[in-house]
Amino acid sequence: MGRYVGPACRLCRREGIKLFLKGDRCRMAKCAVEQGRPSPGMHVARMSNKKSEYGTQLREKQRLRRFYGLQEGQFRLFFERALRRRGITGEQLLQMLEMRLDNLVYRLGLASSHRAARQFVLHGHVTVNGRRASVPSMELKGGDRIAVKPRESAKTYAKAQMEASASRELAVWLAVDRENLQGQVLRVPTRQEINPFVNEQLIVELYSK
Ligand code: SF4
Repeated sequence: MGRYVGPACRLCRREGIKLFLKGDRCRMAKCAVEQGRPSPGMHVARMSNKKSEYGTQLREKQRLRRFYGLQEGQFRLFFERALRRRGITGEQLLQMLEMRLDNLVYRLGLASSHRAARQFVLHGHVTVNGRRASVPSMELKGGDRIAVKPRESAKTYAKAQMEASASRELAVWLAVDRENLQGQVLRVPTRQEINPFVNEQLIVELYSK
């Protein structure tokens, strides 16, 4: 299935939660979820009253996948890698998603959304531990440092984003140096430190069928 190119807010309305897909607008009163706009589609209200077990699991997976802006195939691949790791699969999956380079660029406030962060990385504007890194799915580890390349256009963009995101709460497992447009992953977050907006066990059950 190709990448979704329709209205981003429609996805949030469908999932019934804020997925923060549109940057600054998501923190304004204009947000469709804040305004309480209903789910798209004529039959959703009727369908939501009788959701099957499969339907509930599917929604949970879609929420998580859409929040991180991944396509089905990419998400599935992440799940399979999580499955091969030691520990609780659902937890491993969430940690892996959080440690993606594009997610970290977003979390540090260097971009306004996951989509913008992915573009910023793809265009080669960031370094990891001093080396160019242009793969959004790159998995970082505790201690890694992210910085913006000393390129005027990148610095101007990142500075504006940093200023706009200054009021956003920074995760306790990250450190940021706004002045120098840098950040560091202090450690891998625990499950509780990752915003627990999904029940990851339902996703494990869905893929285990
Ligand atoms: Fe979702 Fe609201 Fe952002 Fe639209 S503005 S993408 S509804 S969080």
